[in-house]
Amino acid sequence: MSELDLRPVPCTDDPDTGGFWEAAARGELAIRVCSDCGQVLHLPKAYCHGCGSWNTAWQVVAPTGTLYSWTTTERELRPGFVPPYTIVCVELDDAPGVRLVGYLDGRPQLESGMPMSATFEVAQGGVVIPQWQPA
Ligand SMILES: [Zn+2]
Repeated sequence: MSELDLRPVPCTDDPDTGGFWEAAARGELAIRVCSDCGQVLHLPKAYCHGCGSWNTAWQVVAPTGTLYSWTTTERELRPGFVPPYTIVCVELDDAPGVRLVGYLDGRPQLESGMPMSATFEVAQGGVVIPQWQPA
């Protein structure tokens, strides 16, 4: 059993967020957008909190962003995550204000605002999880 087998995986068929995971399975990043007013809906919801519309769609965005923040964990908090490891928070280039998290092994050399690119990790059950690495 590998470390990946011990990590939790997301529910990929949720009506609000399922499209994100479907895109990830294709090796793409997607954000939910209101088809009526154009507002980005993040965290993804089937309902637009801007105009009240249920008319929303998934929009593919570039798999690139800038490093917003990060933290390195030095002790084991949960099985499957062997310390040290670093959790990054990346703001998408195509959707300012939309930030996604990712996992990196060890203590990588990072700088706020540095370019990052998405990778697609296959987790247990074949679930594909977007991760981030310095570009
Ligand atoms: Zn709207």
